Amino acid sequence: MRIAVLALQGAFAEHEQMLHRLGVDTFEVRQFADWQQPKDGLIIPGGESTTQSKLLHELGLFEPIRKDILAGLPVFGTCAGLILLSPMHLDTMAIDVQRNAYGRQLGSFHATAPVAGIGDDVPMTFIRAPYINQVLSPECEVLAQVDGHIVAARQGRQLVTAFHPELDDDTRIHELFLSTVTA
Ligand code: GLN
Repeated sequence: MRIAVLALQGAFAEHEQMLHRLGVDTFEVRQFADWQQPKDGLIIPGGESTTQSKLLHELGLFEPIRKDILAGLPVFGTCAGLILLSPMHLDTMAIDVQRNAYGRQLGSFHATAPVAGIGDDVPMTFIRAPYINQVLSPECEVLAQVDGHIVAARQGRQLVTAFHPELDDDTRIHELFLSTVTA
């Protein structure tokens, strides 16, 4: 198994470390030539969604990535990655997203909450995070909520979290993603 990690900006190195801990090979996507390598899935990391989107367009990666996701390539988007998969950008996932949803006062915080199919006590680190106002399709399954807001969801082979599982020690969210890759 070989997972592409979008490495234009943001917290991509932590995702690679997590996958290496799980014995999974990764490569970084920085330009179109990288994207042409064989891959079993893609991670879009946290960071700044507007910056990443701009770079995706400038590098000619936006449409190729969108096309492959729509064709069934498994993808995992965290935080800014969640925003990128929403109708605001790549528009592959039917989620209505609120950017910087927790305001300045509560820019970053930690929570523990249940995630469907994983367990009751999943650690969640939020950094200027979005949340999902609502899912816009019955195909989109809510996996977790914190304070009544949707913070994890799945639609087919697309998984998104508003939090950063790569910054905690718990590997279960990455394992959930990998299970969609091997399914
Ligand atoms: N606030 C960022 C955005 O809107 C997301 C923050 C993050 O990825 N940690 O893109």
